[in-house]
Amino acid sequence: MKKDGHVHTPFCPHGTDDSFELYIETAIKKGFSAITFTEHAPLPEGFVDPTPDKDSAMPFSDIDRYLSILLDLKKQYKRDIDIHIGLEVDYINGFERETAQFLDKYGPFLDDSILSVHFLKLNGQYYCVDFDEHTFQKMAELSGGINHLYELYYATVLKGVVSDLGKYKPKRLGHITLIHKFQKLFQATFDEKPYIEQIFAEMNKRGMELDVNTSGLRKAFCGEIYPPEDIIQAAKKQSIPLVYGSDAHSAKDVGSDFSLFEKMV
Ligand SMILES: [Zn+2]
Ligand SMILES: [Zn+2]
Repeated sequence: MKKDGHVHTPFCPHGTDDSFELYIETAIKKGFSAITFTEHAPLPEGFVDPTPDKDSAMPFSDIDRYLSILLDLKKQYKRDIDIHIGLEVDYINGFERETAQFLDKYGPFLDDSILSVHFLKLNGQYYCVDFDEHTFQKMAELSGGINHLYELYYATVLKGVVSDLGKYKPKRLGHITLIHKFQKLFQATFDEKPYIEQIFAEMNKRGMELDVNTSGLRKAFCGEIYPPEDIIQAAKKQSIPLVYGSDAHSAKDVGSDFSLFEKMV
């Protein structure tokens, strides 16, 4: 089955206004038989989005409309493509209870979801790790160096994987190596392999899947798939199910670099 399991929508405040129909028709044209829409879930109650425009996720007031539009589209296109209703849910250290409460309420309406880490807590404050290179540099300084920032990132991902977010906790881990986003500017010498192995072991216990996310290839300072091939091979060895995701924020990127994924898995 050819599926794009990580696709954003016009509900994304930092994405494009491309319509759902345009995303869906692009997927059909590129020969996909399934697509999961995974808009950034509303951030948990009490969490203040640290990005300047506070546009990391859809506002809470949009969630009902998002779900009902997708339910209609799912019926409308059912002969052409399987549309899965999903969300990309943030794991935020310290907001587990609020996130679980949200999932308890909205999880029953979801077919398929992703758990991702975009926010890290440093000196009691939250920062968005993939926002831009300046924020990244500041985060590295506050951490005491790039290697320490990598360590904090992987420790947070591990915490997310083992966290109790209730029965609707997403089954797929998003872009496990997002910390590589600015790697051409800031090179780490941190040995991430032991963390990755530990994360895989915990994912395995929970039957979690891995998002193989090609968006890093479209980022100037990354130039690499999330995760790179050696980590994909390590996941295969652990029998972790791999799910292709374009992480498209515009219709033209649906299915992007799928052939690369096919070659690796
Ligand atoms: Zn996004
Ligand atoms: Zn993401």
